[in-house]
This record gives sequence, structure tokens and C-alpha cells, in this order.
Amino acid sequence: MLDTLLNLKSALVKAMEKIAGEENVLYKKEELIVYSTDSTNSTEQKEIAEVVVFPQNTMQVSEIMKYAYKKTIAVTPRSGGTSVCGACIPKKGGIIIDFSKMDKISEINKNNLICKVQPGVVIEDLKKEVEKQDLYYPPDPSNLKASMIGGSIALNSGGPHTFKYGATKDYIIDLEVVLSDGTIIHTSSQCSKDVTGYNMTQFFIGSEGTLGLITEAVIKLIPKPEATRVMLAYFDTLEDTSKTVNDLISNLITPSVIDLIDKNTIKTIESFYPTGLLTDKTAALLIEIDGFKSALDEQYNKIIEICKNNNSSYIQTASTKEEEEKIWISRRSSFGATAKLAPNVMTEDVVVPRDKIVPLVKGIQYICDKYSLKTCIMGHIGDGNIHPNIALDLRNEKERLNFEQAKSELFELALSLGGTLSGEHGIGSEKSYFINKAVNPDCLALMKKLKQLFDPKNILNPGKIF
Ligand SMILES: Cc1cc2nc3c(=O)[nH]c(=O)nc-3n(C[C@H](O)[C@H](O)[C@H](O)COP(=O)(O)OP(=O)(O)OC[C@H]3O[C@@H](n4cnc5c(N)ncnc54)[C@H](O)[C@@H]3O)c2cc1C
Repeated sequence: MLDTLLNLKSALVKAMEKIAGEENVLYKKEELIVYSTDSTNSTEQKEIAEVVVFPQNTMQVSEIMKYAYKKTIAVTPRSGGTSVCGACIPKKGGIIIDFSKMDKISEINKNNLICKVQPGVVIEDLKKEVEKQDLYYPPDPSNLKASMIGGSIALNSGGPHTFKYGATKDYIIDLEVVLSDGTIIHTSSQCSKDVTGYNMTQFFIGSEGTLGLITEAVIKLIPKPEATRVMLAYFDTLEDTSKTVNDLISNLITPSVIDLIDKNTIKTIESFYPTGLLTDKTAALLIEIDGFKSALDEQYNKIIEICKNNNSSYIQTASTKEEEEKIWISRRSSFGATAKLAPNVMTEDVVVPRDKIVPLVKGIQYICDKYSLKTCIMGHIGDGNIHPNIALDLRNEKERLNFEQAKSELFELALSLGGTLSGEHGIGSEKSYFINKAVNPDCLALMKKLKQLFDPKNILNPGKIF
């Protein structure tokens, strides 16, 4: 640590330079401070790592792990660094492995409907690349311009398209993984179906970098839907909003996106990124449908009819790609707009069975009002997954304590409704204090045994999940 303070090269820094090259290592204090955080406005004391290394290939990752294993040094993997639960904040110093330079798409195979990618590929880049061949990779953490494949697999990211297409876990066929002692494994074959033994691939998905490091992924693709239609339907009550979702499903419609945006979110977006949203309504549903162009009109008309039957007071439809994009820009601005309300934004990610959405949203509003927290609520209503974005100043002790109290009550509320702590953001260091209330004790004990088996020295992303 003294070496870090004096910006000197420690033995660890020199070892990393030997493995990855001097130009791929950071060790100066000011550089390490930048890596002491992710997109979480953490309330915790910041730790800094001793070194950040940017490997170029799997062999280098393996060499780094062999060194870390031998010396029992903590390793924190990082891809885009957009985690909102403190998942890639170093908790025990040591090494940060930044995967952003392992960013190659080595294969897109249209016949087999797969592609092979390194962990540092940005999700939007992958989507654009496969779309050139009329293929589609649906998972879309709403910040797809920044988040990368490695992190999104390690968090099992979801996003707006999960309701129809599933989450990241539904698109991973095989993983190349470097284990804590540097051993390189493949979790499966490259076949789209494989039940030869345990489903090892799924152990690593959502494991937040605590079981192994993903160095390559074989990803399932699907044919690209020919067309999309997007609309925003406004409602005066949450009950009507929620009933609309159920009625769409009862009428055999599966929207590719069905997201809820509450009044505060609409007002906040419109204040900072005005696109003409109606700010006097209780909530809006962003609805997208996709498929063959010829099949969309009928669904579209049916959706409008269902929204009107449920008292939708206004339906804003997009008739061009530009208008669709405008609606999407508003939706994707929700976090950024909330961030303009106060120095910090804390995002939560509770999930409940879909029929408990109304009590969840009302409960969140009640809790946040009780603690005087400015809260913008939005989320993936079709999945029962709601994100309260809470704007506050963490330097203000009262606000910070109010937030901590509200967060625990929010978790209690989700559990009481048959839900849980996280639908897609993960646990990281921010929610670990609550996991024993959310996971049954025998299952939690088994999870800890698995961690011990994969990582006996507890060097892989220590201090996360448990
Ligand atoms: C504005 C905003 C909106 C968001 N919206 C959504 C959303 O709609 N849906 C959603 O699901 N999430 C969302 N997120 C959360 C987050 O962005 C995603 O989970 C994202 O996919 C994480 O990717 P990343 O590359 O940034 O991962 P990182 O933050 O770098 O890492 C995430 C986790 O993966 C581990 N990790 C990283 N790379 C590897 C690797 N190669 N091997 C093993 N472990 C690794 C890290 O240690 C960490 O535990 C949002 C975040 C922001 C800031």
C-alpha cells in the first residue's frame, strides 16, 4: 500500500506488467481511485485496488489468476463498470481485471444462429454487428451503449425486452471460464441443446464474478424481427395501467416491451430532456410490438382498443422510426434525468409476481414519501420488476439514513408480496446484508459451499453477494 501512496511499482505491479505488458497496467493512486467505484452511488467507505490490468487474451487472464492464487490476492473483474449494486467495486484491494480490451467478435455464424465474443464487447456493438446479417440478440440492459457482454453475463442482465425474449441467461450456450487457480474450462459444447451432465454454464451466469472469470461466450442469436411499432399509453390510475397489461396478455398479445413510467419520472424526463410527454398523468406504459410488418397492424389496433377500454386518457403513437426513437430516448433518459435532481441517485430493483405490481408501486411511493425521498419509479411491469430511482444528497446524513431505512423497508415489502431483492441488477455489496432474509437458509448454505468449491481462497470478487 505504501508503494501505491508513493506511486511506486510494487512486486504485484511488476508481475502484472510482465504478464500483460507495461502499457496494459495502471498503478498510480489517482488511476486506482477512478476504479474504486462503478455506477453505484455507494454509501460505503471506498477501497482501492493495488493495480488495474487490461489483459488481451485468455492466457494472460489465466496467468494473472495463477499469480493471484499462489499469493492469495483478491481479484475484482470489471467490464463496462455500469453495475448499480457495487458489484465491481474492489472490497479487498488487490487486482482489478478490466476486460475492456478483450473486445473481439470472433465469429457470427448465421447457419448455426450463434456468435462467439470476448467479454469486453459492448452490447450495442454486438447488436449492430449481428443485425447486419438480419440476426438479433435481444438482451438490452437499458444502458446498452456502455455495458459489456462479460458484465451482463455475470449479472444476468435483463432490460426492457425480457418480457418477450428472456434475460441474458436464455442466450448463453457456452462459456470459456478461467477458474480461481488459473485453470481454463469450457462449460458446455457449442450446440444449442446440451444436457450432457450438469448445466455448468448457468452456474456462472449471475454469479457476479465470484466463481470464475468469463473470457469468451458463445451466444445464441435469433432471426431479427422485420418491424417494430412503439406507443406510449397514459393512464390516470395504476390499477388501469396494471389491468391493461393483464388484458393484453389475455388477448394473446406478447409485447416485446411493456415498461411502466410513473408521473414523477415523466415530469423529470420532460424537465430535462423535453420531447412532449404528458406530465399530468399518473403513469404511462411504453409498449413495443415486433414481428412481420403485415402482422403488426392487427395487434397494434387491438392494443389501442384495450388501452382505451382501460380508460387510457391519451395514446401517443410513433408512425416513423424517428418518432419511435424519440419515445425510446425519453425512456432511456429516466436515470440520467433523475440524476439531475440531486447529487446522487440510488436505483433499486425489486421484483414481485406480476399480480402484485400495484401494491408494490403504491408501497414504494408510501415508503419514499414517509422518508421524504424524491423518487421516480419506472420498470419492467411485464416482469413484475420495478426500479425506484431515488435522488438524494448522500453527504446529508439525514437523507442518507432515511434512504438506508427506506431501502430495508422496500426489501421487506417485496418479500412480503412474494417477491425478492433483485430482478436484474444483482446483489453486489449493496444488498448482501439482506440476502439471508431473501434466500432460504439451506439454499444459502449450498450457495456458500459452491463458492468455497470454486474459489477456496476467496479471492474472486470477495465481499459480494454474501
Ligand atoms: C443507467 C443504467 C441503466 C441500467 N439499466 C439496466 C436494465 O434495464 N437492466 C439490467 O439488467 N441492468 C441495468 N443496469 C445495470 C448494469 O448496467 C447491467 O447489469 C450491465 O449489464 C452490467 O454490465 P457491465 O459490463 O457494465 O458490468 P460491470 O459493471 O463491469 O460488472 C458487473 C459484474 O460482473 C462482473 N464481471 C465483469 N466482467 C466479468 C467477466 N469477464 N467475468 C466474470 N465476471 C465479470 C463484475 O465483477 C461485476 O460483479 C443499468 C445500469 C445503469 C447505470
